[in-house]
Amino acid sequence: MTRTSEGVHSLVAAGAVLAIDLGAIRENYRLLKSRLDGVPAAGLVKAAGYGLDAPAVAHALIREGCNTFFVAHLSEAVALAASIGDKPAIHILNGLAPGAEQECIACGAIPVLNSLEQLDAWRGAARRVGKRLPATLQVDSGMARLGLSPADVKTLAVTSGAFDGIDIVLVMSHLACADEPDSPANEMQLHEFERLRAMLPKAPASLANSSGIFLGKRYHFDLARPGAALYGVNPVPGRPNPMRQVVNLSAKVVQTRNLPAGVGVGYGHSFHTSSLMRTATISLGYADGWPRRAVAAAWFNGVRLPFIGRVSMDSIILDISALPEGRLKGGDLVELIGEHQSIDEVATIAGTIGYEILTSLGGRFHRVHVDRDQEKLAEFIRMRWQG
Ligand SMILES: *Cc1c(COP(=O)(O)O)cnc(C)c1O
Repeated sequence: MTRTSEGVHSLVAAGAVLAIDLGAIRENYRLLKSRLDGVPAAGLVKAAGYGLDAPAVAHALIREGCNTFFVAHLSEAVALAASIGDKPAIHILNGLAPGAEQECIACGAIPVLNSLEQLDAWRGAARRVGKRLPATLQVDSGMARLGLSPADVKTLAVTSGAFDGIDIVLVMSHLACADEPDSPANEMQLHEFERLRAMLPKAPASLANSSGIFLGKRYHFDLARPGAALYGVNPVPGRPNPMRQVVNLSAKVVQTRNLPAGVGVGYGHSFHTSSLMRTATISLGYADGWPRRAVAAAWFNGVRLPFIGRVSMDSIILDISALPEGRLKGGDLVELIGEHQSIDEVATIAGTIGYEILTSLGGRFHRVHVDRDQEKLAEFIRMRWQG
């Protein structure tokens, strides 16, 4: 077991602890690779590695042989390149913003060109600097979000010099309904991708995100682009999650109290005690990215402690009557995301998706990155805190 990095807030100063298991991320990467039958997989580390720290995630994946990463913005590429160097490829999904050419060249990132304007700008940059520049081309195979339209692709196919000075290193597209294996949109996008690709310069191809990997071999092409599944989000909703949980979120108890029957609890008194009740107020709220709508539960030593009343900005009130009197004290940690309550379960309660829960997790936590392979994360944190 090695602790590889610590967040800016000390364990004593922070209200909650977010532990990120890099060993589980590596195991998830290996699991996806085993599904891909020899096809390589990139690491999607946009939005700060889905909120879990892009450089830490990237270094963990590099250990597994990953040499291709995707971020969303140039700013993310610059930060990542500073940490992992210029050997692994860093693709920028949103491509080139107007005027960004120079900085993109300087950091060595590969823009995903999504429009004829972006392609023109990159060709112009290559001419100006007098050297060939790498680029990925994205085609819109049926999501209508980003990428060259079928009409754009046709135009390019009959325009001479359209790619002058540019090396197309990848042609990619993105699936709109990969998490719905029965959706006819998947097969339609697959065929459209093949058709559009055939009109472009010959280059390796990429279509599948996490869920796309589970649609089968025909979707794998030359490179898969998993994100969420690496971080433990279920890529096959409605079926058992094949991925390992990566994050553990635990919050500190601020105080406990004994309430008589008939007391209004929290904002708006949305809950009233109906009998004697023991409660604990914990140090985490919607300002930490816990959705206000997610009226869920916390766990302590395997005992479920339901939320009561409303989620506040910095705190949540728990019914701890199931624990013996005095068992839970100020400073004890209760678990909010972990073996008893997954990211996907919290998301379902909040009416959203695991992606949004992950990327919302806030900046006030004590963050620890651990790489533990086998041991249980929750036990590790409890040990650290309780000595
Ligand atoms: C975010 C993203 C991915 C990764 O998707 P997951 O569902 O998180 O695996 C892949 N490709 C593109 C274009 C994306 O924007």
